[in-house]
Amino acid sequence: MERFAIGILDLDGFKGVNDRLGHQTGDALLIQVASRLKRLLRKTDTLSRLGGDEFGLLLTNLDEGTENQDFFTKIVESLLDPFDVKNADGATVRISGSLGLTICPPDQGDATTLIAHADLALYRVKDRGRNGWALFQQEMEEQLIESHRLRTELERALPNGEFLLHYQPQVNMRTGQVVGVESLVRWNHPDRGFLLPEAFIDVAEKSGDLIASLGRFVLEESLAQQNRWKQRGLDLRVSVNIGARHFLSRSFQDDLRFVIARHGGSCPMTLEVTETEALRDLSQLQKAIEKCLDLGIRVILDDFGTGQASLTSLQNLSVGGIKIDQGFVEKIRECPKARAIVSSLVAVCQMMQIEVITEGVQDEEDGRTLIGMGCEWAQGYAIARPMPAEAIPDWIASWTPFRSWTRKNDLGNSENKNKP
Ligand code: C2E
Ligand code: MG
Ligand code: MG
Repeated sequence: MERFAIGILDLDGFKGVNDRLGHQTGDALLIQVASRLKRLLRKTDTLSRLGGDEFGLLLTNLDEGTENQDFFTKIVESLLDPFDVKNADGATVRISGSLGLTICPPDQGDATTLIAHADLALYRVKDRGRNGWALFQQEMEEQLIESHRLRTELERALPNGEFLLHYQPQVNMRTGQVVGVESLVRWNHPDRGFLLPEAFIDVAEKSGDLIASLGRFVLEESLAQQNRWKQRGLDLRVSVNIGARHFLSRSFQDDLRFVIARHGGSCPMTLEVTETEALRDLSQLQKAIEKCLDLGIRVILDDFGTGQASLTSLQNLSVGGIKIDQGFVEKIRECPKARAIVSSLVAVCQMMQIEVITEGVQDEEDGRTLIGMGCEWAQGYAIARPMPAEAIPDWIASWTPFRSWTRKNDLGNSENKNKP
């Protein structure tokens, strides 16, 4: 059977051209794109405009080898050459394209299905940063259905009271002092049981409303729990994870002010924000951090070292500290480079007089290595796993650090050094 592909090509950055240079220029660009594509296609192929800046492609007589791939690459690359359309400053307009495709066979179905599949592949290209092509894979459809289902269930979970928090102690490994707890959300799903954030947090993060409602719940419940502990004579700082989108949203400062006011106005709390794409704009981030500081709330960068955050961000942001990502801690034993990264991050934080905490301390030896580097504040399974709030007082009463951790008294006068 003859193999063919259905493709959807979307121009990256076309909206910008339309907005900046007007629709007439936009139309001129589309015409040039179409004629360039037509020159590239073979007689039996078909090109059509699907609307806006989207083109539909029907590519016929495909072989089974890598020739197709070269052809797809050529189509995308053909758009990188300049077009005869000028920007306001006289420079030639440059764009790129994202192409999603599905090949039949193996794919099958009616035209609507095939176009929907090509569209899913297109989303994958956009997700990866555009300017490229991708082929539809069945798993894309399953992922989409799954994330739709999760989103609907998440919307219902909050009013149904299906979320709860567990708390993981944060300690000074050398002195044995318990400095606080990090609240970690869990979902008691009616059908799927007890779910950890990895099963749902990404889907929640993608929807501004969901991550904000979840964030409000976590803030409210963490501070309510802090008060309950206080009534039992236990003063604990709580660290709350806030999704970057919520943190930067307009409603966040109101949410924060509201919840703090409800809980007596002064709550020892740290916000942990994970460095993500959303945190690219340092000046916007700095404004949000300053507003938190005005309310007496410190912000630290979570999972430091994995995403966008660089040492420049430490220079430009008034963060109270960083939490070194557990990926580095995991490797400190066998990887000298990971050891070097952790120990230099600790040194940088000490010099900048901001706090440094490590997460993912799995065993005694990890802890010893970290203490040797001057990083005493930590959390991890070697200390305690996240647990329900009721278990915290007994855990604190009974916890003692490993002797090899406390014996290192000669590691400096670091009683309160870099503490969270
Ligand atoms: P995180 O904030 O970096 O939290 C640390 C994660 O590492 C937690 O996973 C914790 O259970 C796990 N962990 C702690 N010690 C160890 C260890 O020694 N070994 C290993 N392998 N893992 C350890 P958890 O609870 O599954 O949370 C995963 C992530 O989900 C969190 O990473 C955080 O980014 C996000 N998250 C959790 N709760 C919330 C929340 O309330 N709101 C938001 N927006 N995100 C949350
Ligand atoms: Mg965290
Ligand atoms: Mg982390």
